[in-house]
Amino acid sequence: MNRHPNPSSVVFSHPRNFYLRTFGCQMNQHDSEKITGLLESRGWKRTGDENEADLILLNTCSVRRHAEERVLGRLARYRREKEKRPGLLVGVIGCMAQIWKEGLWEKFPELDLVLGPGSFASLPDELETLIDSGGQRLVDRFEDPADFFEVPATRVNSLHGWVTVMRGCDNFCSYCVVPYARGREVSRPPEEIVEEVRSLGKNGYKEITLLGQNVNSYRGKDRADLPVDFPGLLRRLNTVEGIERIRFVTSHPKDISPALISSIADLDKVCESIHFPAQSGSDKILKKMRRGYTRGEYLEDLDKVCESIHFPAQSGSDKILKKMRRGYTRGEYLERAQQLQIAIPGITLASDFIVGFPGETDDNFARTLDLLREVRFDRIFAFVYSPRPKTEAAKLQDGIPPEIKSARLQQLLSLQRSISLEKNQELLGKEVEVLVEGKNRKYQDRGEGRTRTGKMVFFPWEEGMRGQLINIRIERVTDLSLYSYFPVEK
Ligand code: SAM
Ligand code: SF4
Repeated sequence: MNRHPNPSSVVFSHPRNFYLRTFGCQMNQHDSEKITGLLESRGWKRTGDENEADLILLNTCSVRRHAEERVLGRLARYRREKEKRPGLLVGVIGCMAQIWKEGLWEKFPELDLVLGPGSFASLPDELETLIDSGGQRLVDRFEDPADFFEVPATRVNSLHGWVTVMRGCDNFCSYCVVPYARGREVSRPPEEIVEEVRSLGKNGYKEITLLGQNVNSYRGKDRADLPVDFPGLLRRLNTVEGIERIRFVTSHPKDISPALISSIADLDKVCESIHFPAQSGSDKILKKMRRGYTRGEYLEDLDKVCESIHFPAQSGSDKILKKMRRGYTRGEYLERAQQLQIAIPGITLASDFIVGFPGETDDNFARTLDLLREVRFDRIFAFVYSPRPKTEAAKLQDGIPPEIKSARLQQLLSLQRSISLEKNQELLGKEVEVLVEGKNRKYQDRGEGRTRTGKMVFFPWEEGMRGQLINIRIERVTDLSLYSYFPVEK
């Protein structure tokens, strides 16, 4: 493809500046940290100001149409900018590049680079080619993921670090574009993950979040060629010095195994006995059983794995779950949720939901509302169904009027707000452990941090608190946050 003048005559700033804007999930945010690390290692410098950039990159998301429209809106702006500054390079990278390919030139004929997530590791070379030879580049190869796994990230946060454990997805849920955009599932070798986490621990990081579309299907191979599953990986990571908390997203409900549940609350020692009360549903016996164990003994060596899990249900209706090709029934989902709640008292559960999936009736939607009431999630993320190219569901008749879809979304979110508030009220007067993230930007006398279960807490700020684990008594709550008004007791 060569619709452009040769930009080798263009004079770039020294070092060459790039502006990088990210759309979408945590995985995209972390990919951008790695892209930054990669470009910096090749002499580029990141700038927060588009006007001083020699290169503008948009790292994009295709999960919903809305995210794509935001990118297209920006591209229209950059088109005018390129007329003013002919040397400016503009690239669309990530999921949208992989899905739209040449189609992006129809929207923005002057676009210089379209590069999918399977080729991130080649980005600096592709840019060199573009600068030396001009033209336009479309790069949609799925390269060896190992090349990008190894790229060091320039991280935006110095306490919390994202760590990729796998890329891609093999599930092909009928509505989802991810397997087409990011390719098939590949697990990263466990030693490499442990090494990265060790280096984070040495550099003052306290908390990590392991990233993958479906972390529970992690199947790594160690150097001795032995398989390591996700609970096995958690065990290795739990020993890393300096790291206090381990989180992970996302967990596919069909792959939540008893082994994973006992990794969060290592119940090896009480496994037999806990099984019986779980069947009888007796909380009293479970409580009694915990007596006599110290927290350390009870949780064995996996005390850093946080008591919180994000396992998207998507719908509460069996009919819709089947159409979505999710691989579990409502009953199976509820069973997993119950097992988690029984085995790990105080665990917080989070979920994603899609409303207005083709064929969703009022009754089907009512089943989703019921699921919220039954599980009592701590938080949810809910979206109106968006038909996606290449997916199976895009062929289905999408006959639900937009106003019904948005009314369902509002109803779902409003029910969740009341459940979140009730769940937070249960914490009133209780002490929670908080990892202090820093001073609140708006209220300078206020500190902020998160509980092990991921809830945001605000409290009186004192210098030197950042990065500390402190215990705080909760005095006030909203559906979104917890508050303490009294200084931390020393
Ligand atoms: N891998 C995760 C899982 O299995 O649930 C989710 C990854 S997906 C990128 C994040 C969320 O986007 C999904 O849980 C789903 O709720 C939502 N989503 C995906 N495709 C969608 C679509 N076509 N329309 C609306 N929401 C969608
Ligand atoms: Fe998409 Fe389903 Fe894979 Fe999640 S598990 S990324 S929803 S295909």
